[in-house]
Amino acid sequence: MTHAAEPGAHAPAHLERVVHWIDGRRVPGSSGRSGSVYDPAAGRVARTVDFASVEEVDAAVAAAAAAFPAWRATSLSRRTDILFRIRNVVEANRRELAALLTAEHGKVPSDALGEIARGLENLEFACGVPNLLKGGYSEQASTGIDVYQLRQPLGVVAGVTPFNFPAMVPMWMFGNALACGNTFVLKPSEKDPSASLFLAELLAEAGVPAGVFNVVQGDRVAVDRLLEHPDVAAVSFVGSTPIARHVYETGTRNGKRVQALGGAKNHMLVLPDADVEMAADAAVSAGYGSSGERCMAIATIVAVGDVADPLVAAIRARIPRVKVGPGSDPEAQMGPLITQQHMEKVASYLASAPAQGATVVADGRDHPLHRSSEGFFLGPSLIDHVGPGMDCYRDEIFGPVLTVVRVDSYGEALRLINDNPYGNGTAIFTRDGGAARRFQFDVHVGMVGINVPIPVPVAYYSFGGWKGSLFGDLHMYGPEGIQFYTRAKVVTSRWPDPGSSTVDLGFPRTR
Ligand code: NAD
Repeated sequence: MTHAAEPGAHAPAHLERVVHWIDGRRVPGSSGRSGSVYDPAAGRVARTVDFASVEEVDAAVAAAAAAFPAWRATSLSRRTDILFRIRNVVEANRRELAALLTAEHGKVPSDALGEIARGLENLEFACGVPNLLKGGYSEQASTGIDVYQLRQPLGVVAGVTPFNFPAMVPMWMFGNALACGNTFVLKPSEKDPSASLFLAELLAEAGVPAGVFNVVQGDRVAVDRLLEHPDVAAVSFVGSTPIARHVYETGTRNGKRVQALGGAKNHMLVLPDADVEMAADAAVSAGYGSSGERCMAIATIVAVGDVADPLVAAIRARIPRVKVGPGSDPEAQMGPLITQQHMEKVASYLASAPAQGATVVADGRDHPLHRSSEGFFLGPSLIDHVGPGMDCYRDEIFGPVLTVVRVDSYGEALRLINDNPYGNGTAIFTRDGGAARRFQFDVHVGMVGINVPIPVPVAYYSFGGWKGSLFGDLHMYGPEGIQFYTRAKVVTSRWPDPGSSTVDLGFPRTR
C-alpha cells in the first residue's frame, strides 16, 4: 500500500532508537539497518527503528520456543490471572499508549483511545479462555469406550501487523494466542513501532514470563524469515492484499497455518428511501475518521436512483465542518496521513479523476494545512460521478477520499459490490427491513452493516473479509481466533478389566 519507511541514513544520530524485545528485555539491533519513524503532524523524522536481521529473528524465535513448554504447562487459572493483569495494565496505561499512537500514526487522541478500547475488548474475550478451551466428551461411545477432544496450542506463533492500528491489531492476535498457551513473536509495522515495545513492557509488568512475548522490529527481511522458520507454527497477518497473498502463499508452502487479512474497498449502499441526513453523517464519519486509513473505512458510496443529489449535497455541506489538525489540537477530528509519499499518492487520485470523467466536489489539496504545513495533511475529499473503470474506484486509496458511484437500481448496486475484488466490509442504508435482509443474504462480503457504516464485529464474534480481503480459512479474533491458535486432539480411551481382551484383526463390527 504505502512505501516502506525510508532508510534511516538521513536521520540525525541523536534520535531515539526503537529496538527489539527478545526474551523479556530490550535488545538493540545489530544488523546496521534501520528505518525512519516520522511525526506525521510535523512532517519530520522523530525516531529511528532498528531492522532485524535473520539472526535477530532467529534469536526471538529461539526465545519463544524455549519459553513454550513451561507456558503451555502453566495452569489455565494462572494464565487467566495473567490475562486479567494484562488487560488491567493496558487499561491503566491507555493514555500513554494513545500518545504514542498519536505521535507516530498521527490519529487524534480520541481515535487513539477508541483503538485501544477495541483492543481491550479482545483481551477481555481472551480472559474467558478456560471456558473457550473446554473440549467435548462422549461417554460410552462404544461399549466401555469414551472419546474426548482437547484443543492444544500450536507452539511459537507470529504476528505481522500494519501501520494503521499499531496497538489494536497486535491485541487482536496476542491475547488469544497467549491464552491458548502459545508463545508469540510480533513483527509490527516499521512506520509506527513504539506502541509494540510499550505493550511488551506492559505484558512483562503483568507477569508474562520472559520469551513468551517477543517483538522484532523491521521490514520484509524479518517477515520472510518468520515465514520460513521451521520453529514458527503459524502466522497471523494484517496488511495490504499483495503482501497478504505473499504471506499466505509463502507461509503455507512452508507448512504453516496462516490467516492473512488484506486490503479493502468498502461500499456503502444508499437506497432511495434512506434517511439522507443519517446516511451523510455516517459517510462522513466512516470515510474521514482516522483520515480514511482504516481497513473498514467507507471508500465508495453507491447511491441508488434519486437519492444521489441530496446525499452528495449533504456530504458536501458537512465537509467544511470536519476539523483537520494535529493530535495536539484538542478540537482536531482528523489528523495527517502516515507519510509524505502516501499523502502524495492519495492526492494523485484527486488529480487524475477529472480526466477520467469524474467530478471533484471537494478537493483536500485546497485545505490550508495541506498547502502550508510541513505535516502530511490532506483535507476531506469527495469525488462524484465515479465509474468502475476509474483509478479512484479500482484502487484502495486508504485516505480521506469518498467516491460516489450513481446507479439506477439495487440489482446494479449489488453487482458492483459483488464484482469488486475486495470483500472486507459493506453497509446498506435504508428504512426497508426486507431490502436490508435481502442485501445481507445476497452480498459477497464478510462483514455487513445495516445502517451501521463500520460493522467491525465485537470481540466475541470474529473479524474477516471475503475475496482479496482474506487469505485463509479462519477469521481473526473471537471464537475463530481460538480455533486458529489451537489444534484438536481426539482421545479414544478404554479401561477394560485385565484378561478380558482378545486378538481381533478386523474393524469393529458390533456396536
Ligand atoms: P503493508 O502490507 O504495507 O504492511 C503490513 C506489514 O507487512 C508490515 O508489518 C510490513 O512491514 C510488512 N511488509 C511490507 N512489505 C512487505 C513485503 N514485501 N514482504 C513481507 N512483509 C512486508 O500494509 P500497511 O500499509 O502497513 O497497512 C495498510 C493496509 O493494511 C491497507 O491495505 C489496509 O486495508 C490493510 N489492513 C487490513 C485490515 C484487515 O483487517 N483486513 C486491517 C488493517 C489494515
